[in-house]
Amino acid sequence: MNYYDNSPETADSRLISSQLRPEDRESEPGIRPATLAEYMGQEKIKANLTVFIQAALARGEALDHVLLYGPPGLGKTTLANIIANEMRVNIRTTSGPAIERPGDLAAIITSLEPRDILFIDEIHRLNRAVEEVLYPAMEDFGLDIILGKGPSARTLRLDLPPFTLIGATTRAGMLSSPMRDRFGISFRLEYYEESELRNIAERAARLLNLALEPEGAAEIARCSRGTPRIANRLLRRLRDFAQVRGQGVVSREVAKSGLALLEVDSLGLDKMDRRVMDAIMRKFDGGPVGLDTIAASIGESVDTIEDVCEPYLLQLGFIQRTPRGRTATPGAYRYFAMDLPARLVQTNLQETLFPAGEEEQQNSK
Ligand code: ADP
Repeated sequence: MNYYDNSPETADSRLISSQLRPEDRESEPGIRPATLAEYMGQEKIKANLTVFIQAALARGEALDHVLLYGPPGLGKTTLANIIANEMRVNIRTTSGPAIERPGDLAAIITSLEPRDILFIDEIHRLNRAVEEVLYPAMEDFGLDIILGKGPSARTLRLDLPPFTLIGATTRAGMLSSPMRDRFGISFRLEYYEESELRNIAERAARLLNLALEPEGAAEIARCSRGTPRIANRLLRRLRDFAQVRGQGVVSREVAKSGLALLEVDSLGLDKMDRRVMDAIMRKFDGGPVGLDTIAASIGESVDTIEDVCEPYLLQLGFIQRTPRGRTATPGAYRYFAMDLPARLVQTNLQETLFPAGEEEQQNSK
């Protein structure tokens, strides 16, 4: 099986990347759900949020600060906008890297109306000086302004209207702990089930006026690696195939042949995932190998691999994280039809002879 492709590819050119691309931005407002009822999946989060929102509305208070974390494309920005909608308040959107100085943050925060929402995407990328200003703002709705310099400097405290900060991050682990502690509500977004992705694709197709057969939707759901943004993107690409080859209908055949041409396999793996797996399995003999080394060997950025490829490959059970680096699992070798390196043969044999489940059963007898 020739799954290895050497052609250069960047995260931007990557169809399956869950990072936001310009084409997504153009078409997202139309299909982005605006209410909790339209937001598919993430049932626990929705159930909790409904209670918190109702309680805050009944008390006439701002919602507690909310932290949303999880891989890109799972609906963090969407949820932030929905919360604003359900709370019937305005939302100001910015991102960690965009707020360079404390003054930038002060300018934004002082322009908020009571109970408004400030949404900071990539909040793990806020710099320390800005974080320091954010803490009292989150905790006591106060802004400390330093007037003057040197020994004669004075601090002036400015009272702010109560507001809600919603922070989103793909890297909860990179958030400083004082920052994390200041969020009263914290939700981890999970990858979506296939049935949920099917609903998402079907809903988007309705809004795009596109005929999507149930089997076509199922194909899209299977290849979307648990990510709504990818389901929507695949749907838009398949719409082109349907127009040219399928009388405007996304059937199973159109979906299958379209996805094959887009080089997305039945698990939703694309060229970049295959290059990552190839590096670990072939170049580094199954690992352990560090992320930096993998990134350098395939000419990709560590961030892209860590944010986009790795969470999904971990979820599939194709790689494992060990203190010494990433390793490929026997399951990955099976999927890519490659021989196991000698080192793994022994482990694999043991797993086959004594599967973990059976062992537990025996122990419990
Ligand atoms: P993130 O901020 O986590 O990167 P977004 O909120 O931008 O992700 O979501 C990407 C796109 O996926 C949205 O524009 C929306 O169309 C779609 N989407 C995300 N979550 C859902 C959901 N739960 N139900 C329906 N569509 C969703």
